[in-house]
Amino acid sequence: MSVQAPLKKGSEDPYVAIAQQQLIALGYGLPRFGADGVLGDETLSAYGAFLVSRGLRAATDEQPKAITPAGSAALDVAFAALNQGGSTSNIIDERANHPHAGRSVSTPYRLWSKITAVVLHQTASNIGEKPARWHSVPIHFCITRAGKVIQLYDLTEICNHANGLNRSSVGIEIDGWYAGIEGQPKTLWQPKGLATPRQPMDLPTLQADAVKATVQWIANTVAANGGMVTHIHPHRQSSKDRQSDPGSLIWQTVGLWAQNTLGLSDGGAAFTVGNGRTIPEDWDVRYTGNRY
Ligand SMILES: [Zn+2]
Repeated sequence: MSVQAPLKKGSEDPYVAIAQQQLIALGYGLPRFGADGVLGDETLSAYGAFLVSRGLRAATDEQPKAITPAGSAALDVAFAALNQGGSTSNIIDERANHPHAGRSVSTPYRLWSKITAVVLHQTASNIGEKPARWHSVPIHFCITRAGKVIQLYDLTEICNHANGLNRSSVGIEIDGWYAGIEGQPKTLWQPKGLATPRQPMDLPTLQADAVKATVQWIANTVAANGGMVTHIHPHRQSSKDRQSDPGSLIWQTVGLWAQNTLGLSDGGAAFTVGNGRTIPEDWDVRYTGNRY
């Protein structure tokens, strides 16, 4: 979506938030104000750097004072290119192949504008690489240990994956069992009756990269439909029974990455929903004193 006439500094046109989301997705961070819908210096500076990268402006030129139709068209082209290539162009689409029994019965669908978050989970299992084995999992995306991305539900469907965060979030299930805190095997969930106790799994680079690409793809797709993903949460924040979900390794590899790279928020040190637990200091050193 591009503008027809230049948008000047200070504008609060609805297009501004779209341009900001595109800039963030393209790697031009807006650390102070994020996608706030106001065209200020931070956004114009990022927009200027983007134009330089496209050869539409010299690095020595003054900072642009407006977003022009040509500049916004260039943003659209760059943003559209993001949605192609990379592992998420190879989403294994299983949406038509199962009965969608994991969907909310009372409210099966939502508007794009209601999607504001991504929730990360570990399966605490090993479901494996065969897409059909995932059909009964009530969640939008599953990432296998080999890095396959399997989509089960539309983003606009409300799935029962994250308790009080269901309505606002898209869920990603990461296959494998992971310690609640890396290096502390006691924080790993042990099913009853195993002859040999489980050992925590690692997070293969292929799998971690597929999760990151999926978070990015979700944010881009929601933005392309007029909404905006602003948050990323561990399931733990919305359920006291999911203390180690998804665990420190996944959270530090993907949750913190999404905050630093995409400008998403985890809600802060005290954030919980329902009977959930705060993010512990062992997962994020900023949250001094938050217990596991
Ligand atoms: Zn979970």
